[in-house]
Amino acid sequence: MIKKELKIPMRIKKLGALLKRLSETYPKFKENSDEYHRRMSGYRGEQSLQYYLTFLKENNYFIFHNLRLPDISGKHFFEIDILLISPTFILIIDAKHYRGELYFDGKFDQLIQIYTDTKKSYPCPVAQITRHQHQLKRLLETFKIPSIPIETLVIFTNPNSIINASTDFKHYNKVIKSPSFIQKIELFEKRNREEVLDRKHLLKLSRILLKLHTPHDQDILAQFNIKQDDLIKGVRCPKCNKIPMKRTPRSWHCAHCSYVSKIAYLKSIADYSFLIGNTITNQKLCDFLRLSSRTGAKTIFKTLHLEHKGDLKSRIYILPKNIESFLMKYE
Ligand SMILES: [Zn+2]
Repeated sequence: MIKKELKIPMRIKKLGALLKRLSETYPKFKENSDEYHRRMSGYRGEQSLQYYLTFLKENNYFIFHNLRLPDISGKHFFEIDILLISPTFILIIDAKHYRGELYFDGKFDQLIQIYTDTKKSYPCPVAQITRHQHQLKRLLETFKIPSIPIETLVIFTNPNSIINASTDFKHYNKVIKSPSFIQKIELFEKRNREEVLDRKHLLKLSRILLKLHTPHDQDILAQFNIKQDDLIKGVRCPKCNKIPMKRTPRSWHCAHCSYVSKIAYLKSIADYSFLIGNTITNQKLCDFLRLSSRTGAKTIFKTLHLEHKGDLKSRIYILPKNIESFLMKYE
C-alpha cells in the first residue's frame, strides 16, 4: 500500500530551474549540476523500481517514497529514497540509476564510476544507507515504536550498468540490481518472521513518518550564495530552454528552435517560483521576464487570475504552492 507516492522532489525542481538560468561558466554551475544529476539518478532509479514494487504483497507493506526525516537532534535531516514497512521488518532502499561501470572500493569506502572514459568518485552508498539505518533506529526509539529489524539495500536500476568490487568490499549482500529485488524480499521475509508491529503500530508509525517528513524547501539562491542578478533573465523557451525568447506582437518566438507560443512565459513563472519565491509584483515580473512594459506584465497577471493583496499600485500577487499544476491549466 503506497503511503507516500513518488513525485519529483522540490529540490530537483529547484536545481533544474537554477541550472537552466545559470551560464555554464558560472563558478557554482558544476556544483549545482552535480547535485542535480545525482538526485535525478536517484529519482530515475525509483521510477524504474515501481514495476518491482508491484510484486510486493499489497497488504503486507506500507511504501513511502522520498522521506526527508530529522535525526534525533532535530538539526540534521536524512533522506530515504524508498522505505518499506512490514509487521516483521523495515527496509531502507537507496536507488541509483548510474550508468557505466561501478566499482566499490572497500578500502576507501568509495564508489567509482567509469563512464565514457571518465572516472568519478562518489561516497559509498552502503556506508550512507547504514548511517540512515542508525538514524531511523534512534528515531523509532524516541517515538517508542517497538524495536524492529531494519534491513538496507542499495539497488542499481540501470540494466546496462556493470557492478564490481574490490576483494575487501564486505557488503555484497547489501547491493543488488533491480531484477533480484523480489528474491531479496523473500530472503528478508524468511529472516524476519516474528511479528513486531501490529496494525495499530504500523498506522502509528506511518502517521509519525508522514508528519516528520520535511520537504527540502530551502531558498536555493541563498544556499549557493547566488545573487538574483547572476541569473539569466528573460522568457525561457519551453522547447529548447534557450533564453530569452523574443516578444512579437501576439506571441513569443524562439530564435534558436523557431518555437512560437502565446503562453511561453508559463515555464518561466514556474522558474521564478522555484528560485525567487511565491510572491511577485508587476516590477519583479518585468525584471525576471525582461518585459519592456508594465502593460505586458499586467496582461500576464490578468490571464493567470492570481490571488493578490495590496492596492493596485503596490499589488503583491501570490503564486500557488503547486505552481506547475496551476500553470498547466493554461497550457
Ligand atoms: Zn527554443
